[in-house]
Amino acid sequence: MSEPSAPESTLPYPPIHRDKRFVVLSDWDGTITTHDSNDYMTDNLGFGKAQRRAGNLEILAGHDTFRDGFRKMLASIVANGHTFEECKEILRQNIKLDPGFKDFYAWCKENDVPVIIVSSGMAPLIRAVLSNLIGDADAADIEIIANDVYVFPDGKWEIQFRHPSSGFGHDKSQAILPYRKLPQPPTLFFFGDGVSDISAAKYADVLFVKTKEDGENDLSVYCQREGIKHILFSDFSKALPTVESIVKGEKTIEDVINA
Ligand SMILES: [Mg+2]
Repeated sequence: MSEPSAPESTLPYPPIHRDKRFVVLSDWDGTITTHDSNDYMTDNLGFGKAQRRAGNLEILAGHDTFRDGFRKMLASIVANGHTFEECKEILRQNIKLDPGFKDFYAWCKENDVPVIIVSSGMAPLIRAVLSNLIGDADAADIEIIANDVYVFPDGKWEIQFRHPSSGFGHDKSQAILPYRKLPQPPTLFFFGDGVSDISAAKYADVLFVKTKEDGENDLSVYCQREGIKHILFSDFSKALPTVESIVKGEKTIEDVINA
């Protein structure tokens, strides 16, 4: 499979786990959380849902980049006068965890499977929501590879993209590819739900795509179009038996992706 050249990163990466047989990488917004926090902010504090969905479809159709569409969403929140601290607090109050994630994470920890959050969101918001939901200790423990934020003295703020030269803003494939290049690469599980996951989707050994009640299933649409095999899941409790069966050697990757 051909690889795009690596975009320059403005932010550091955590060291890779060189000695693991299995690694879980997961999107945050709408995958580990029940609702996408950036969508939530845009719909309630920014230019609203109709304009956001129109923008999402432009990205999916290839008429806009994820990076630029996402920047417009966030800029609409700032334009309405909302500070970063205010957004953090609103998200802490309103964003919930996937009902199966806590147990899934505990199982991974027990079984020596690292869990890495790979997000197009901003790391400070993810940590704030996470510490509220799973406690400070686990929230500090989970690795997060995401974008960051510039907060200015006048209270305005702007996303700091990890890969400003990439149309993804954060090219998630760069979190996965170093694992593929290891002499003995681990089996890579990737969990995602949306357009921001497209860059990583094709590099996973087992790709899980989250189903949505509201039908906003952009990653699944993309995977069907591109012929990328994936497993649909509604919450992490439904995905755990599949992960477990592979980790325990009861099933092969082929068994589960062809099922
Ligand atoms: Mg997402």
